[in-house]
Amino acid sequence: MKRNGILFVISAPSGAGKTSLCRQIIDIFPNMRHSVSFTTRPRRSGETDGVDYHFVSQEIFDTMVAEGAFAEWARVHGNCYGTALATLQEARDQGQDLLLDIDCQGAQQLKRHCPDGVFIFILPPSLEELERRLRGRNTDSPEVIGRRLANARREIRELVWYDYLIVNDDLSQAVEKFKGIILAEGCRSSRTREEAIRLFGIDMQDLETTA
Ligand code: ADP
Ligand code: 5GP
Repeated sequence: MKRNGILFVISAPSGAGKTSLCRQIIDIFPNMRHSVSFTTRPRRSGETDGVDYHFVSQEIFDTMVAEGAFAEWARVHGNCYGTALATLQEARDQGQDLLLDIDCQGAQQLKRHCPDGVFIFILPPSLEELERRLRGRNTDSPEVIGRRLANARREIRELVWYDYLIVNDDLSQAVEKFKGIILAEGCRSSRTREEAIRLFGIDMQDLETTA
């Protein structure tokens, strides 16, 4: 049954496993695309411009903000990150589901503008395990890790307004839960009803008079 693309917005403290989870989800669902954000953060080894992020200077980022090019943007861990309106529009035009890995400030901006988006918060099993994962990833300096851990304590409080919570303890179990959410949201009556009515030739006026 045809339906419009869905916006899946994922937030989590850094190191909770968002990237690992999202990679698997993109591989499983052919109609799901990863939203490539713009950032002023320096590229990490192994990252590709245009694939992981669009890496831009502060000057270019500021110009995009001034031109109203972002659906949301925020300063996270000392760098700027934003989702371009064009990215959302392109997915909508192509009927594709979009996976946005963004921080809580950006997610809250989107919740106001896209109320039918699906907002998912990924939790680590504990703060101790979060620290272990950040150190084990070996991508950030001890100073950056310290800042990310301090931010994590604040970010976790935001879980209260998300639609779904997934604890990423065992990665494959977390993927299964994520898959369940995506499948259920795709079947939501509010997203598929119109197409079903058309498909089965239901006369809405007829329904109203017989009700
Ligand atoms: P994020 O994108 O949220 O910052 P990553 O996906 O980069 O997090 O994961 C942080 C580190 O933790 C990585 O080294 C990753 O391999 C590891 N990791 C992710 N999920 C799990 C898990 N369920 N159990 C153990 N390690 C994990
Ligand atoms: P990282 O530097 O580890 O890739 O990401 C740091 C944080 O920035 C993560 O919490 C990630 O979700 C967030 N982030 C990535 N892209 C965006 C974006 O486009 N907008 C916002 N608001 N946050 C983002």
